[in-house]
Amino acid sequence: MGLGKMKVSYIGIGSNLGNRRENIKRVIEILKKDKKVKLLKKSKIYETDPIGPPQRKFLNGVFKIKTEYSPFELLQKMKEIEALLGRKKTLRWGPRTIDLDILFYDKLILRTKDLTIPHPEIPKRIFVLKPLSEISPFLKHPLLKKTVRRLLKEYETN
Ligand code: ADP
Ligand code: MG
Repeated sequence: MGLGKMKVSYIGIGSNLGNRRENIKRVIEILKKDKKVKLLKKSKIYETDPIGPPQRKFLNGVFKIKTEYSPFELLQKMKEIEALLGRKKTLRWGPRTIDLDILFYDKLILRTKDLTIPHPEIPKRIFVLKPLSEISPFLKHPLLKKTVRRLLKEYETN
C-alpha cells in the first residue's frame, strides 16, 4: 500500500437502532478489511442523547483513518457501509442503523451539494467534539483555525 498517497481523515459514527454496539463493530470489521483504509485510532464509544424527535439514545464515536480514497470515493464508501448495515433493519426499525460522517479530510475545505468538508456540524455536536478531542485534541479545524479541544471548551462554556 502506497502510504505516501494516503490522507488522514476522521469519521464520525453513530447508531441508535438495532444492536448499536454490534453495528459499530461491523463497521470496524469492514474498514479493517478495506485495503484502501488503515484504521489509526478509535475513540471510546459514548452514549449520547438524541437530538430531534424522541428516540433511543445514540452510541457515538470517532475513527481516525488513513485512506487512499478521494473525498468523494470515501463518501461513496461510507454510504455503501450505511446501506449494507441499514438494509436489513429498514423494514422493521426504520433506516437509521448507522450514520457515517466525514468530519475532516486532510486539511481540505470543500463545499459541494453532496459533500461538505469539514463537516459543518462539528462545532455544534458534543457527541463529535468529545470523542474527537479524546483522540486528537490538538487537531486544528482548517476553517475555524481552532483546535478541537478549544471547540469543545467553547461548546461547554456556551
Ligand atoms: P445526517 O448525517 O445529517 O444525519 P445523512 O447521513 O442522511 O444526514 O446525510 C445526508 C447527506 O449529507 C449525505 O447523502 C451526503 O451526501 C451529505 N454530506 C455532506 N457532507 C457530508 C460529510 N462531510 N459526511 C457525510 N455526508 C455528507
Ligand atoms: Mg450522515
